[in-house]
Amino acid sequence: MIQEENETSLVKFTKLVSKYKKNPYIIGIAVALVILISTISYYNFNTAFAVEVDGVEIGIVKNKTDFKTVINEITDELKAETGSDVQVMDKVEFKKMKGFGHNITPEHELKDCLGSMLKYNVKAAVIVVSGQKAACVRDKDAAENVIEKVKTSFARNDGKSKLEEAEIEEEIVVKEDFLAPEEILDEENAIANIIRGTDEIKVHKVKKGESLWTIARNNKMTVGDLKKANPQIKNELIRDGQELNLIVPKPYVNVITKEVVEYNESIPFTTKVERDSNLWSWETRVKKAGTRGVKEIKAMVICKNGVETEREILEEKITKEPSAQIVSRGTKSAPSRGTGRFLWPVSGKITSLFGKRGREYHTGVDIGAPTGTYVKASDSGTVTFAGTSGNYGRLVKIDHGNGYVTYYAHNSKLLVSRNEKVEKGQTIARVGSTGRSTGPHLHFEIRKNGSPINPMGFFR
Ligand SMILES: [Zn+2]
Repeated sequence: MIQEENETSLVKFTKLVSKYKKNPYIIGIAVALVILISTISYYNFNTAFAVEVDGVEIGIVKNKTDFKTVINEITDELKAETGSDVQVMDKVEFKKMKGFGHNITPEHELKDCLGSMLKYNVKAAVIVVSGQKAACVRDKDAAENVIEKVKTSFARNDGKSKLEEAEIEEEIVVKEDFLAPEEILDEENAIANIIRGTDEIKVHKVKKGESLWTIARNNKMTVGDLKKANPQIKNELIRDGQELNLIVPKPYVNVITKEVVEYNESIPFTTKVERDSNLWSWETRVKKAGTRGVKEIKAMVICKNGVETEREILEEKITKEPSAQIVSRGTKSAPSRGTGRFLWPVSGKITSLFGKRGREYHTGVDIGAPTGTYVKASDSGTVTFAGTSGNYGRLVKIDHGNGYVTYYAHNSKLLVSRNEKVEKGQTIARVGSTGRSTGPHLHFEIRKNGSPINPMGFFR
């Protein structure tokens, strides 16, 4: 093709020469024209460039401008797609080719090929915390948005508190830079990244029979760390199939939040003790139950990454006063006075009654019972004697403080001692046959103002 064109020009030239050979002026112009056309033709048809991207030939172009148009088209498309400025990262080289008849790569082929292999960086915003790259986002606006949301992410948001101030302790800067598209996070992921302190994600699916402890051990963590990574766990309860995060968050930032919180606090009541002579000294009784008061509190709560570090009470208003609890405490000491009504001291059969017994006078009643049977105090009082006394054998005497004294004789064992206060029905001794006795029995005697009286008078 190219050669044919050249021949055509030559033929034209010969014709022109023969036609205008008498006019050298015209011939001069013609020669100049031919040279011009040839030069243009030469550059149009005889030059080509091999295009190399990162050392790999991808096609042949007629001139660099054509190729640059293709690149520009691709970058324009990428710009439209990413919404940002784009920087081609590959090294593009043109190598001039010698000779004729080069097979020029069609533009669309070149474009397809380049589009699939071109490495490019996108202009984005880098959030730098204390000199450390924490997250990359689309642009500065997105970065500012992310920073704002990281600040407020630690607020309680419980409807009862109002965020007054949120600040990041660390120095935080936003820089623009060209970055690989895969480095650029959407806002949500960028926030999570900054709060977690890493882009690493490690999830464990709970299997049957696993506990927090086994999972922690198998992943070289402590149970505390595992809980920190999974604040959703309550009471160590995990289910089969539940997904647990194994990365302990170490936020890039320390967010200090100041929140005004309003809440009610209960006020404890005081307790007043009143003496009550109707109660035993060991008895207390709530005479009037106390009620707790209520105060409305408005406080400034300062938190670091959501953990309270300080609380300042701004306002306090008592809406309900507490009312004191009144407790009665007994003053009555242990019973030392009898009731005047007697209890039968041992179960058994009467073997000898009170009164004349041959030449003797029997001062009590005898009650037959097996050795070891419990002997009970017939009424409340104070032990005035507990020991051995002649014919009585092992004897207990109880003064009931009302003129009556009771005797319990012939015991095998004494269970009380002198001066002890005893209550009606309390076990004081065990039946025996000590002293002047012919078999195990209790000799029970009641004395009024020192003189024995017939006990049977009380048991009718
Ligand atoms: Zn007797």
